Amino acid sequence: MITLALSKGRIFDETLPLLKAAGIEVLDDPDKTRKLILATNQPDVRVVLVRATDVPTYVQYGGADLGITGLDTLLEHGMEWGGAASNAGLYQPLDLQIAKCRISVAVREGFDYAAAVRQGARLTVATKYVAIAREFFAAKGVHVDLIKLYGSMELAPLTGLADAIVDLVSTGNTLKANHLVEVEHIMDISSRLVVNQAALKLKQEPIRRIIDAFASVVESK
Ligand code: AMP
Repeated sequence: MITLALSKGRIFDETLPLLKAAGIEVLDDPDKTRKLILATNQPDVRVVLVRATDVPTYVQYGGADLGITGLDTLLEHGMEWGGAASNAGLYQPLDLQIAKCRISVAVREGFDYAAAVRQGARLTVATKYVAIAREFFAAKGVHVDLIKLYGSMELAPLTGLADAIVDLVSTGNTLKANHLVEVEHIMDISSRLVVNQAALKLKQEPIRRIIDAFASVVESK
């Protein structure tokens, strides 16, 4: 059995065409079922639905053989657990070029971010991406107090909880609707295929087949 860990929503939807190219069709619609294990038209391939932030954990510890997750999630997973070594057992063979966005710093309209940074002010930054934010501001030599949030980051500068946020930006519409402006582009984000290294050795042929099918779709884009 090959187990693929996916999260519902954008990643699941954008993964369906890749699976199709590998001859795999998921038999249930995750929005219409409460099942967490979804069968496919291939009796030896199943999909498990997990939270996006749990995908690296499932794959690393062998709860799934493969998984698809954003670079943001992978970086937070690795850095939270103490650096590259903590991603041991996770092989990252492919940038799937799906769920593309960027991770940026944003502030309230009218907040003079450049001046605050120039003056060496201590910034309060609210984010779900504490590890990425810590690394980014440390490299810039900017002192920050980080506040961990789990959602609705846009509210933080509007309520006075923080001076800035670090969040994913796609079209920029969410920032605009909340009177926030992007002041730094930290990095581009896309979803990555991750594979459990031990599974790759033990089930090399079927896993390779899936990786190769995904790779050919990505290359043809
Ligand atoms: P947008 O308004 O298009 O800039 O989208 C921003 C909102 O969507 C933010 O709340 C982000 O957290 C979320 N978002 C944007 N792109 C992604 C992505 N690729 N994966 C997950 N969340 C995203």
